[in-house]
Amino acid sequence: MKITGIRFERVFAKWAFEGPLAEDRLLRPVDIYEDFRAEGPYFPVRTAGQKPPYEVQSIFMWVDTDEGLSGLFGAISEEEARIIAGQLAPAILGENPHAVERIWDRMYRLAIHGRKGQTMQAISKVDLALWDLKGKALGVPVYVLLGGPTREKNRAYASMLGFSAEPARAAERAAEVVAQGFTATKWFVRYGPADGEAGARKNLDLIRAVREAVGPDVEIMFDAWSSWSVPYTLRMAELAAPYRPWWFEEPVLADRIGEYALLRRSVRGVAIAGGEHEYTRWGIKQLLEAGAVDILQADPTWAGGLTEMKKICALASAYGVPVIPHHGSFASAHLIASEDITTCPIQEWLLQAGWRENVFLKHKLLPEGGYIVPPNRPGLGIELDEAVITRREALALS
Ligand SMILES: [Mg+2]
Repeated sequence: MKITGIRFERVFAKWAFEGPLAEDRLLRPVDIYEDFRAEGPYFPVRTAGQKPPYEVQSIFMWVDTDEGLSGLFGAISEEEARIIAGQLAPAILGENPHAVERIWDRMYRLAIHGRKGQTMQAISKVDLALWDLKGKALGVPVYVLLGGPTREKNRAYASMLGFSAEPARAAERAAEVVAQGFTATKWFVRYGPADGEAGARKNLDLIRAVREAVGPDVEIMFDAWSSWSVPYTLRMAELAAPYRPWWFEEPVLADRIGEYALLRRSVRGVAIAGGEHEYTRWGIKQLLEAGAVDILQADPTWAGGLTEMKKICALASAYGVPVIPHHGSFASAHLIASEDITTCPIQEWLLQAGWRENVFLKHKLLPEGGYIVPPNRPGLGIELDEAVITRREALALS
């Protein structure tokens, strides 16, 4: 079998979803600047002034072969599509699609400036489409190809990006997700060092409200999205100690590996998580060697695809550091179901992003009772629902 082409299509739908979306946003490193600080919520669809049904669109990618089988992955960004069509195609076209290791290495060597960031995210998407293709060719789900199943379903945590972080609203929502069966939930703080002691107390109000809403047995986590500092994280850990957060996530910017290591050594009782903005086995190896994180959060749709994530998991397990991948929905579901439960104990599920991702899909991937069952169809299990697509167009990339 040979790869004969790569196609991209933009698909459109009307999304009648009536639930809550983009009530709040996360704190960002760039919020130290007033102009950025003033920006409102934007994730996962800009809803300002819009009422359902929302106009939504996504780009999907097909890797075609001479045997009529195609691998599918989506949604991907237009920038990723451009990188794949414009830079990576010579490493992919004409290749045997089963040879994921060879194609990964060809893409990596061809895109010499693409070790981290958008190009590696594009490489990841190609890799995922190839695993989908391999699964379809062999008639098995991807988690079987990767060494699973290690379990029937993945424990999931409710990741609350986009929901109001106002303590009373957060408490209500936290209680709701626990009632749905989730045994862990993560919240996104709104305040950082620029907000002073008053901001720290507001973060604490959120932490306290979530703990009191979920009771003593549910795990709670807080994500600072790279926007705190070492002293601020130490202060928050001290304040939050009575409420026993499981982890603080990305307390500082991803490049500040020494600061992560300092925090990991200094903070007692709260784990330090990070790595969603790190890429490949070599980037992750630096975090592990530095002792930077208690929990590693590489994303299979960014860090190099499933081919690379298997290596990252092997590396992390040798250091005794669990991998709890950043979101990654379908890709993470298959990965986690193929790794032992100490290496990959739980799956992140961003509720709002998950709803949005499912719009175009025939078989929805959704947690039930706090667990995600990995798709058992051949490949990744991503299939477009033609009935919801109002329009589709080939992506013009030139
Ligand atoms: Mg995060």
